[in-house]
Amino acid sequence: MSFDSVDLTRTLAPETPAAPHSASGEAVATHDLSDVAPPARPARRWTPKRVVATPAAYDHAHGLRILSLVEAQGIEVERLRSNRLTGLRGESDRETYARAKATMAIVVSPPSRRKLQPIAPSADWRFDLAEGCPAHCQYCYLAGSLSGPPVTRVYADLDDILAGLTDYVGRGTITSRREARRDEGTTFEASCYTDPLALDHLTGSWRRAVEHFGAWDAPVQLRWTTKFDDVGGFVGLAHQGRTRVRLSVNCRPVTTRVEGGTSRLEDRLAALRRLALDGYPVGVTIAPIIAVPDWRSHYGELLDGIAAAVGDVPGLDLTAELITHRFTPGSKEVLLSWYPRTKLEMDEDSRTRKHGKFGAVKYVYPPETMTELRSWFYEEIAARLPAGRILYWT
Ligand code: SF4
Repeated sequence: MSFDSVDLTRTLAPETPAAPHSASGEAVATHDLSDVAPPARPARRWTPKRVVATPAAYDHAHGLRILSLVEAQGIEVERLRSNRLTGLRGESDRETYARAKATMAIVVSPPSRRKLQPIAPSADWRFDLAEGCPAHCQYCYLAGSLSGPPVTRVYADLDDILAGLTDYVGRGTITSRREARRDEGTTFEASCYTDPLALDHLTGSWRRAVEHFGAWDAPVQLRWTTKFDDVGGFVGLAHQGRTRVRLSVNCRPVTTRVEGGTSRLEDRLAALRRLALDGYPVGVTIAPIIAVPDWRSHYGELLDGIAAAVGDVPGLDLTAELITHRFTPGSKEVLLSWYPRTKLEMDEDSRTRKHGKFGAVKYVYPPETMTELRSWFYEEIAARLPAGRILYWT
C-alpha cells in the first residue's frame, strides 16, 4: 500500500453495499493487509497523532467546533492547502499504514454520502458523520475493504447533513412494513462506517445529532451502535427518547480474541446501564454470533451479564439485534493472512454457500446450526431478558 498522497474527497469504504459495522462485509472487494496491519491494541481514548483539515472544512460551523475541541485537547490542527493529504509515506508499507491509521482529517462529506441509502434490517436510512475507525476487529469489513489508506475522515458539514434528513421522514421500508417497529418512526442509522464513541470526544458530532433528534418533534429515531464505553458526554443530553444506542457485544471467547482496540465487555455493559438509567432507549447488537465450542454456555453468560447490567432499570426499553457470522472468500483470505493463528472458524465445508444481495458468494451456518442458534437465542432472551425485544435475526 504505497502512496504519495490521499484524495480526501474520496470515500474510504466502497460506495455499495452499505453494511452494518458489526457485520462482516458481503460483496465487498478486499485487499490483503497482512504486511501492513498493526497489531491489535487495548482500548483507550483515541488521540490521533496528526489532525488535518481541508480548506472547505473551515467554512462550516461544525468544522470550527471540531477544531476547537481537538485543540482544547492539546492537538495541533494542520490546515491543508487543498483536498490532498501528503506526508503519510513511511520507511515501510507497515509504517505508512500505521501513519494513516493514526491520522484524522476534518473534511466536508462527499456528495455521494449525502444521498441516503436504505439499510434494512437495521434502519430505514443510513447517514454518515465520519468514516474510519481506530479499532481492529478482525471481522470488520472496513479492515480489508479500504479503497485507500485508512485515514479517518470526520465531517465538518454536520449541520447540513442533519438538515438533509428531513426529506426522508415517512419514507423507508421499515417504517411502513414492520408492525413491531412502527413506534420508532423513521429510523436513521449513524454508525455504518465508523464507531461513534471512538470519535465523539474529538468531534462532538453524535452528541449534536442526539440533541438534534431530541429537538425534532417528529416520528423519527436516531440509532447507532458502538463497541466503546465513552458515554459520559451523552448522559444528561435532551435526547427525548429519540435516540436508541446499542452496545455491540459478544461472548467472552469472541470479544477477547477478535475485537482489538475496543472497550472491555464489562465496560460496555456498564455504559449500557448508564444510558438506560438516563432514559435512553437502548439495545444490544449481538454480532457476529459464532458457534464456538460450548456456545450455549458462553452466550448464556453474556445474556446474564446484560440482564445484570440493566434488568433493574425502571421503564427499561431494550432491544436485541442478532447477526450470525458469515464470511466471503475475500474476507477469509484477508483475515487468515492478517491473523494466521486466528481461532475464528471459517471452514467452507461446514458452511452453506449462499449468494448475497449483490450476487457475491458468502458462507453462512448450515440450516440446522442456524435453527439451533436461532431457537436458543429466542428462547433464552425471552427467559433471561424478558424486557428485551428482538428486532431481527440474520
Ligand atoms: S469498532 Fe471499528 S473496527 Fe470494530 S467493527 Fe466497529 S468499525 Fe470495525
